[in-house]
Amino acid sequence: MPISFIKTEKQKHLYKMASELAERFHERAQEYDETGEFPILNIEELKRTGYTSLSVPKEYGGKDSLSLYDFVLLQETLAVGDGSTALSIGWHLGATMDLFEKKRWNEEKLSAYANQVLQGALYNRAATEPQTGSPTRGGKPQTTAKKEGDKWILSGRKSFTTMVPVLDYIGVIASVEGTDQVGEFLVERSKDGVTIEETWNTISMRGTGSHDLVLTNVELEENDLVEILTPELKAIPSGWMLHIPACYLGIAIAARNYAVKFANEYSPNSIKGPIRTIPNVARVVGEMEAELLQARHVLYSIADKWDRTVDRSQLGPELGLAKHIATNSALSVVDKAMRIVGAKSLHKSNPLQRYYRDVRAGLHNPPMDDMTIAKLADLAFKEME
Ligand SMILES: Cc1cc2nc3c(=O)[nH]c(=O)nc-3n(C[C@H](O)[C@H](O)[C@H](O)COP(=O)(O)OP(=O)(O)OC[C@H]3O[C@@H](n4cnc5c(N)ncnc54)[C@H](O)[C@@H]3O)c2cc1C
Repeated sequence: MPISFIKTEKQKHLYKMASELAERFHERAQEYDETGEFPILNIEELKRTGYTSLSVPKEYGGKDSLSLYDFVLLQETLAVGDGSTALSIGWHLGATMDLFEKKRWNEEKLSAYANQVLQGALYNRAATEPQTGSPTRGGKPQTTAKKEGDKWILSGRKSFTTMVPVLDYIGVIASVEGTDQVGEFLVERSKDGVTIEETWNTISMRGTGSHDLVLTNVELEENDLVEILTPELKAIPSGWMLHIPACYLGIAIAARNYAVKFANEYSPNSIKGPIRTIPNVARVVGEMEAELLQARHVLYSIADKWDRTVDRSQLGPELGLAKHIATNSALSVVDKAMRIVGAKSLHKSNPLQRYYRDVRAGLHNPPMDDMTIAKLADLAFKEME
């Protein structure tokens, strides 16, 4: 009996839905990775099955409310099939969850957005720029919004805009000209002046379509400035970002599954039976299992704590810890899986080499390890004050 993190009937249903999708995505993953094309068929399937609107709450027309625990379970399961697709849709589902939870936009914008998502619209935030690097470091965007009469004129370039080939709405983070303020501007992809430069040619997460978004004098309405990013707002922890560690653990589970099956079946003629009977192989399998379970327990228990906590303002360091442990464990689990399988894992046709490349990207998704560790150190010192 495998160790399961499913606790409710609803989670059983969500798991079934995500694992069926994952199975189909797995069949296409190698081709998308090799061509570097965006996995459009996967996204279409996610829309058809209603996956893309799962985080719209009931009061806005959604089916049911999704807890953070449910969300982590869904995303981890999906990533077993294809990490790139899971990370891509994770931004949309998670950011949507966050919008409604924190009521980040005004009511009119929120309900219009909910209607669009229920019809299949997709959204992501474009925060990173070539000059600022990770927005979590506090750099000021060079993308600017200039007020002209009752319009905003937006210009600039965003890098790493995941899923941009299929986005309908993009939350562009820009500096408000003539002020110290930075805000989110809701941009429809179809607007004049919005273009994509296909810059995403990486070794990792090749199917995320994280290209550059170029904005040239894009004209927006006054109320398209949906939010000013105040320091107070930025300080509120973001539980939804646990879709990131969930994704990388899903990739690690796929690697573990492959390696365990291989150890069970591969039987070289130097021994009797499969290599699982060799003590060293069994030891590495056990170590891999221990590391994976440890990371999953941390991730799921912190998601559960988030769901049960009313005042979530102090949960930031623990969310960071979950991401730190999950992404580093994912790297180590994939490494161990490759040691079990041996040189066959290096073949381009072998999925392990894709998992090996994909898990690296986790290190460069927020929050970065050094920031998490610094926050934990801060916490320890504060406790002694
Ligand atoms: C697969 C993938 C998908 C992504 N999707 C999105 C998305 O949808 N939307 C989006 O906005 N972004 C996205 N990103 C971008 C991501 O959030 C980061 O902004 C991006 O990876 C750059 O981070 P970095 O640490 O490499 O870059 P940098 O911040 O440029 O850092 C480079 C190096 O300099 C160091 N450094 C830089 N500044 C500081 C500082 N102030 N203090 C200490 N050290 C510093 C870092 O530690 C690092 O070693 C995505 C990234 C990846 C890999």
